Amino acid sequence: MKKELMDILACPMCKGDLELSIEAEDEKGEVVVGSLYCGKCDLQYPIDDGIPNLLPPELRQSSD
Ligand SMILES: [Zn+2]
Repeated sequence: MKKELMDILACPMCKGDLELSIEAEDEKGEVVVGSLYCGKCDLQYPIDDGIPNLLPPELRQSSD
């Protein structure tokens, strides 16, 4: 995920700004693993394999 994406990404619940924390980035400076945090909702959205998962938590769990 390019860090520039932060400019367009917003919390899916409140459309507020997200805070980026980076756990791993690649040689191009793109975020591979990390998370996006919304302080307003107190929700954290994971970034896995460079893909931000911005599904609201209740839609994230896939049940059988
Ligand atoms: Zn929010």
